[in-house]
Amino acid sequence: MHILVLGGTTEARTLAEALHARGYRVTTSLAGRVAAPRLPRGGEVRIGGFGGAEGLAEWLRGQHVDVLIDATHPFAGTISFNAAHAADLAHVPLLALRRPGWAPSPGDDWHLVDSLEEASRALPGLGSRVFLTTGRMGLAAFAHLDELWFLVRSVDGPEPPHPPRMETVLDRGPFTLDGERELLRRHRVDVLVTKDSGAAATAPKLAAAREAGIPVVVVRRPPAPEGVPVAETAEEAVAWVAARV
Ligand code: NAP
Repeated sequence: MHILVLGGTTEARTLAEALHARGYRVTTSLAGRVAAPRLPRGGEVRIGGFGGAEGLAEWLRGQHVDVLIDATHPFAGTISFNAAHAADLAHVPLLALRRPGWAPSPGDDWHLVDSLEEASRALPGLGSRVFLTTGRMGLAAFAHLDELWFLVRSVDGPEPPHPPRMETVLDRGPFTLDGERELLRRHRVDVLVTKDSGAAATAPKLAAAREAGIPVVVVRRPPAPEGVPVAETAEEAVAWVAARV
């Protein structure tokens, strides 16, 4: 049984390692966005795009893939739709591994928006010192906000266009509540922007913002393809695979 895991998340790595440990042949696919990605300890890895849904379908057929698992980030919308289309074309069963989104707790001051552009429109009314944790790829949406100061946290360094008044922290999760409290305090952050990734590794910033009474702009998830079975954890995905053998 050859399983292709579309990766780029902690869950994808956990899943690839669990499937490899159970003796399946696993290939993890990464887009190649991060210079030094964390790789699963087990299985094969390939890096780079497939060339759309048709290219992915071709790869599934050529590599005799039996099961496709879309374990990409909930905000990686294109590859998820490509996976659904390619699975249809190549007649390969598809499972999505998608962790649930975050839910607000009492005391949270969340402002839900549908895009980074909408987040940028909301910001001037909410604060002037912004902690931006939406990744380095979408900074152009905030580049015109020259009155605001930004603390941008990303794995690799941002490239222009980006906000003119900006400091960068190069880091990747998991983050701790103490660390997030300290970051907010040291930089006098008064508003946080995040995508609803749902990841445990990056959730402590939400608790730190709640404690400090800081508003949070939460970008809702983009639509995902319909009709694809979803597992919420790597364990559920392993059970789904085992049930198909
Ligand atoms: P995207 O917009 O959905 O995909 C753009 C293109 O990148 C796809 O059409 C595909 O190219 C290629 N691609 C994406 N994921 C791939 C994978 N796992 N393996 C091979 N090719 C892939 O994706 P994105 O938002 O740029 O994210 C890229 C990767 O970073 C994803 O794998 C995702 O899991 C990870 N990631 C994304 C975010 C985020 O906020 N978007 C956050 C953390 C991690 P072809 O059409 O040529 O096949």
